[in-house]
Amino acid sequence: MMHEALDPGRSLLIGGRWESADETMPVVDPWSGETLGAVACANVIHVERAVAAATRGAEAMRALSTGARARILHAAAAALEANAERFAFAITAETGKPVRTATREVARAVNTLRLSGEEATRLAGETIAFDSFPGGETRSGHYVQEPVGVIAAITPFNDPLNLVCHKLGPAFAAGNAVILKPAEQAPLVAVMLARLLLAAGLPEEALSLLTGRGSDFGDALTSHADVAMVSFTGGARVGEAICRSAGIKRLSMELGGNGPVIVMDDADIERAARASAAGAFGAAGQNCIGVQRIYVHEKIHDRFAQALVAATATLRVGDPRDAATDVGPMIGAAEAERIIAWTLEAVAGGASLLSGGERAGTLVRPTLLSNVAADARVACHEAFGPVASLFRFADLDEAIDAANRADYAIHAAIFTESLRHARHAARRLRAAGVMVNDSTDYRLDAMPFGGAGRGNMGREGVRFAARDMSQTKVICFHDA
Ligand code: NAP
Repeated sequence: MMHEALDPGRSLLIGGRWESADETMPVVDPWSGETLGAVACANVIHVERAVAAATRGAEAMRALSTGARARILHAAAAALEANAERFAFAITAETGKPVRTATREVARAVNTLRLSGEEATRLAGETIAFDSFPGGETRSGHYVQEPVGVIAAITPFNDPLNLVCHKLGPAFAAGNAVILKPAEQAPLVAVMLARLLLAAGLPEEALSLLTGRGSDFGDALTSHADVAMVSFTGGARVGEAICRSAGIKRLSMELGGNGPVIVMDDADIERAARASAAGAFGAAGQNCIGVQRIYVHEKIHDRFAQALVAATATLRVGDPRDAATDVGPMIGAAEAERIIAWTLEAVAGGASLLSGGERAGTLVRPTLLSNVAADARVACHEAFGPVASLFRFADLDEAIDAANRADYAIHAAIFTESLRHARHAARRLRAAGVMVNDSTDYRLDAMPFGGAGRGNMGREGVRFAARDMSQTKVICFHDA
């Protein structure tokens, strides 16, 4: 079945016009293996043209009043809400994300665009007390937030709508133009969103869309002298390559995680088990804040392990189009194979398999391990798949030290009924967010969101991203 968004390969948006390219690539449904259609593969010539169009688009956006920017973003939010079912279906088709989860993603994306519309009219400066220092008595002035210009936005496959909205919404709110490069596995929703934004009144050169392979044209885009900022969400390996190629530019790096959860002996075991299972296996674990390592107090370890296995067993695994499904396929067979290989390697190193460990094509059964060696790949690298490991601890600080062992983190979490333990963990956990009595897998789109440690730069969460996508200008009047 041809996907509705595809007008054979005409997926490049440059200067307000949809184009195809000499080369196209298929987009495949990871559940059925069916080809949904084809998108154009952009090349370096498309990059040149997109940057030229975006440079003009940046002037158009800069000239647009904040009220007009807000109206466009609110109109886009309303149109997305009206088309929620179509977008959810498309997310499910190209990523294999269960339709219930995809529907939640669309609702979040509507909120992200609304927050962006609000932020457009809030992104302001303030008066400066120039007269506070001798020599300034005859001066007055203020600072304002100005757009940075052309932003290259590069996004991963796992939340192909909301993560794109987290870049486009704040960028437009702040008056910038964007060249979007969506992930090659999941570009169709980005095409649909671009159409919707243009229909909502976005100046036509304010958004370019380049589909295809990042390895073909990513360097040309990120190193381009007329691109003022690269806003990247994806893995650390690609992030590092982008930092090398971008040179001196504003960078936002939203990289991966290896979510640690601590379960204290005073925790509500059932609640912690249900939340950990949902956080580990939702979106088939392909979630940067997914639960990967669970540190359990030795007094409750076995009871918690039993509750976690039971909670995991209640998850419905299978067809992502079925509204009852909790866990669908991974994005591709190679990724599914990697998760099984890492699991078998951990077992060979002494780990016990509590559940899962099997694969059928792209589908991996939710996999739980215990007694995992600290240096096993499944424990110390981002898994980005449906596998989580249990570890035993005797003392909270020991668990915090272990949780902090990864040199990068997004969220960390603790389940406890003790305020003292919660506050201690919140202080000591090295993460960009600490969730108390939630798993690591909680995000509100208005909150600051990003990473801590190696390589992470900037914050998303609409208000914070809009500031990162602006530059501050001081205006000073010498009145004497
Ligand atoms: P990825 O392989 O790093 O790819 C991310 C994006 O970078 C894709 O659009 C990719 O294009 C593009 N790219 C590849 N090479 C490039 C180059 N040389 N120059 C410019 N762009 C290039 O990530 P993924 O597999 O799609 O997503 C999974 C990763 O994203 C995980 O590590 C996950 O933790 C992370 N993530 C982070 C967050 C966060 O907010 N911190 C949220 C979600 C996901 P192609 O698809 O064409 O290769």
